[in-house]
Amino acid sequence: MIEYRNALREVLRRVRPLGAETVPLAEAAGRTLAADLRAAEPVPPFAKATMDGYAVRAADTRTSVSKGRVRLSVIEDLPAGKTSRKRIGRGQAIRIMTGAPLPKGADAVVMVEDTETAGSDVIIRDPVSAGDNTGRAGEDLEKGDLVLEKGRLIGPAEIGMLAAVGRASIRAARRPTLAVVATGDEIVEPGEKPGPGQIRNANGYTLSALAAQAGAAAAYLGIARDDRTSLRRAFAKAEGADILVLSGGVSVGDYDLVRDELIAWGVRPAFWQVRIKPGKPTFFGTRGKRLVFGLPGNPTSAMVTFHLFVRPAIDRMLGRAEAGPQRGKAVLGREIVLKPGRMQFLRAVLDAAGPEVRVDPFPDQRSGVLRSMVRSRALIVVPPKTVRLEKGRTVDILYLE
Ligand code: AMP
Ligand code: MG
Repeated sequence: MIEYRNALREVLRRVRPLGAETVPLAEAAGRTLAADLRAAEPVPPFAKATMDGYAVRAADTRTSVSKGRVRLSVIEDLPAGKTSRKRIGRGQAIRIMTGAPLPKGADAVVMVEDTETAGSDVIIRDPVSAGDNTGRAGEDLEKGDLVLEKGRLIGPAEIGMLAAVGRASIRAARRPTLAVVATGDEIVEPGEKPGPGQIRNANGYTLSALAAQAGAAAAYLGIARDDRTSLRRAFAKAEGADILVLSGGVSVGDYDLVRDELIAWGVRPAFWQVRIKPGKPTFFGTRGKRLVFGLPGNPTSAMVTFHLFVRPAIDRMLGRAEAGPQRGKAVLGREIVLKPGRMQFLRAVLDAAGPEVRVDPFPDQRSGVLRSMVRSRALIVVPPKTVRLEKGRTVDILYLE
């Protein structure tokens, strides 16, 4: 049996990054930047008003006093999208709207709320200082600045930055294609009524959803039965996928044929059986550049091992800086007593609302209990030799989302 860390290393060292493709900005969310991106121009490109009001020379708002009040002569109206050709001289102002370029000569804007109009003049009630209510050119990004780095996951804020620097499309890592096959003689699809001894297929759907969430292009290929012909037919359908994920049939039962059939199909085994709980029967190998995972059939084991091994592989293929679930620390909400031996990943309810992150292991950790996955947003990582963890102590966790 291989240790978890070594097993993960075996997976990651077999991952080949995929090539890049051009993706329109509107479809870029969830993709990963294939190269560093620098600003070709400053953002914003010009100094501007950040308030509706009057562009002024700040000094004039203290000194241009007439009839006991600060009074400036308004020489133009400047909406957003227009540039003024005029230069503001002493005692002058330009009426300006938010977003309009700051006219020559002006160094501040007086908010309209702090003014009164008096014919073609404006009365300034509150003096301003240079820079007030204005934004300078390049205050967000200077020309040449690194906008976003290679490996960065694109979300809404990143899309905004890309739009601001004039990128209508990006170069992003190609998404790996991932085929999911559920195996088992006893499995029926969710829309069917199970006969005696039959259960509904959860893994085909959980694994496809996990793959899509991780950024892969997932295809669910259906159920293969616990016989050679059916398995071979499913493998053939998965031909060409960057990653093949199977559930079930990798343990030591009489009908667990997946591993033997994968090897007969040409898969080079890297490991089988990992010293972890849940997920001991996990199989991994390669067929050419393709990665092949045989995950245990128990629904929670299948999900946990997907997080532990498949997700990091997808992340690496996408060129992401981080591979796999985010690590963290949390305070244990109650005592745990364990059997030592394997490294354990306890499904845990996460409470991050308070000043410290807290975790409570889900009361039923049996691997058939899918309810534990529904409730759990984290896994508590317990080292192999640990027999007891006291309440209140800090533990290592993996975030599932
Ligand atoms: P196996 O790994 O094939 O020995 O399966 C372990 C357990 O998981 C058995 O109780 C199976 O019935 C169950 N199981 C296998 N595949 C699925 C599936 N796709 N959905 C739900 N349960 C499954
Ligand atoms: Mg089975």
